[in-house]
Amino acid sequence: MSMKRIVFLLLSVFFIPFLSFAEDIPIAPYLPAQNSPAAKTAPISVQYPYENMRIERGAKNIFLFGRVNVQKPVTLTINGTQVAVSDNGGFIAFLPVQTGNFPFVLTATTPTQTYQAVRHVNIEGTDISKFEHKAAFDKTALFPQSAVELLPNDTISLFAQGTPHAQVTFSLSGVKGAKNITMKEDPANPGNYRAQYTFKPDQKPLRSKVTYKLTKGPRNTKAKAVAPAKIKVRDAQKPFTYARVTLNGVKLRKLPTPSGNLYPFYRAYGDVRVSGVMNNQYRLQLNDKESAWLEKRRLKDISAPGADYKNTLSDMHIDYNDRRTRLTFDLTHPTTFSIREFSDSVQIILYGIDDFEESFSFDATNPLLERVDWAQTADKTYTFIAHLKEENTLWGHRYKFEDNKLHIDFMIRPETQATWEKPLKGARIVLDAGHNPRTKVPYDGAIGPSGYLEFQGTMALAEKLKPMLEAAGATVLMTRKGDNKMTLNQRYDFAAKNNAHIFVSLHYNALPNTTDPSAKPRGFTIFYAYPHSFDLAREMHAAFIKNVPLPDEGLTLNDVLFIPRISDFPSILVENAHLIIPEQEQMARTDAGQRIFVQALYEGIINFYQKQLPPPPPPQPVKKTKKRAKKK
Ligand SMILES: [Zn+2]
Repeated sequence: MSMKRIVFLLLSVFFIPFLSFAEDIPIAPYLPAQNSPAAKTAPISVQYPYENMRIERGAKNIFLFGRVNVQKPVTLTINGTQVAVSDNGGFIAFLPVQTGNFPFVLTATTPTQTYQAVRHVNIEGTDISKFEHKAAFDKTALFPQSAVELLPNDTISLFAQGTPHAQVTFSLSGVKGAKNITMKEDPANPGNYRAQYTFKPDQKPLRSKVTYKLTKGPRNTKAKAVAPAKIKVRDAQKPFTYARVTLNGVKLRKLPTPSGNLYPFYRAYGDVRVSGVMNNQYRLQLNDKESAWLEKRRLKDISAPGADYKNTLSDMHIDYNDRRTRLTFDLTHPTTFSIREFSDSVQIILYGIDDFEESFSFDATNPLLERVDWAQTADKTYTFIAHLKEENTLWGHRYKFEDNKLHIDFMIRPETQATWEKPLKGARIVLDAGHNPRTKVPYDGAIGPSGYLEFQGTMALAEKLKPMLEAAGATVLMTRKGDNKMTLNQRYDFAAKNNAHIFVSLHYNALPNTTDPSAKPRGFTIFYAYPHSFDLAREMHAAFIKNVPLPDEGLTLNDVLFIPRISDFPSILVENAHLIIPEQEQMARTDAGQRIFVQALYEGIINFYQKQLPPPPPPQPVKKTKKRAKKK
């Protein structure tokens, strides 16, 4: 393969001086990939990052980990920095990198031999050292890169990257007073320049180009660049376009960035008003004050509704059966809403409602709810608060649109036949072994320094835990069995279809590339998102503290991860340990280590169910005959 040749050439350039002194040094021409036959015998293997992996723009340090497979004692250096090697040969290091194709050179030295290997990564972005001799901008980093649309009164964040320690200004064409405004250099990231600009309330609609100028560069050089995309200011009199969300209940974002920052409670649906565009996301205007962002591909453009368009909430009614209480909202059109649980109530907000006919009835015999209050809380916005008769009696909630009816179901605790001897009798527990089998890069989930993969580790735990829960009376439903692959949505569908009572998702943790693994103690974390999942999360967390000899990273509310956001029943995600840390990978892959995690998981579930039982019977006196029999 041509890659081998390139690597070999690079190696010869790097090591000619070294090679000439020690000719017997074996060099790994490249590092074997996980699960390749060479991996077991290679003297040095790096599991992560993989060869030529792309690393995000601006990375200054990243971690790498792998294993040294040579006789001890051994000293390992990477790019000249000495790195600790654990008992099983595993190592993890956090080291500086530079923009472009960057090599890590690993050298393992034993009393008799020296081994070397190299691993390359591609750090995105422009190498700012290139700017050191002459003023210049990185055009691929100037804001905006894609079309921006905003309203008068909106504030934009401008960004430019170029020669460090210079003076940079921006100008907005056609905007009065927005000429040669000074930007601030980020002291932590020299060469990054930022500024904010707020359009005046009376700003007329226009399309503006952004020009950046750099002065006082090296030897007084100057540079000028125009951002690739323009900024459009919309007409304050006609600020909206209209679009339709066709995917039922899509989640919205707080910021127009591609990942994370999801709003936990909003469910967008139906026709929406759009008041801006940025980074290929639309800004949805929920009412006068609230807005949120959604990817363009989630929306279909529609024309402005006619003057007679009206979304009327004509009725809200409540009914119940033995499993759930249902609130039904009768609307003219589907609409965006949010559901938020508290320990004593649930708040439902409907957006885009022109009129509520105030027709609703409440049946005082409802077993779960005390009453429901409502109010118009903003323009086109109605808020309903369902008060629980008793705190923490909600087992879960779910929503469903049927044509123009929105149903919101509140579930109560499912009946079981639990006893102190069989505390899980009648319980239906979903065990979710996280991630899917994939042994090629990019892996699905984390990998450890010796090449153990997260999907293997989570399945090992699930398979050990299942018979223990069954012995306590539970019906255990495994999302993944053997080698089947399941998306997150399929895992949820499986649980809902099989009438799950609780959902426990098993994982091992990893870190973002640029996070220092040694910056704080790393260990286990329990994630949950709703008050109705808290008791299960708390019992699990306590059982981990009691059983697992690793740092406690906490009982953590997380409203971004998919699994904790499953709302129908208590759902938690357990990060058992950090697979990227050699000692914790060792625990994850050995029988003895797995038993420790499984014991904690088992106790967490048992204690959650036992807390719902009446007090235990007094302990039985020990039978002497049994004791004698044991001594044999
Ligand atoms: Zn995971």
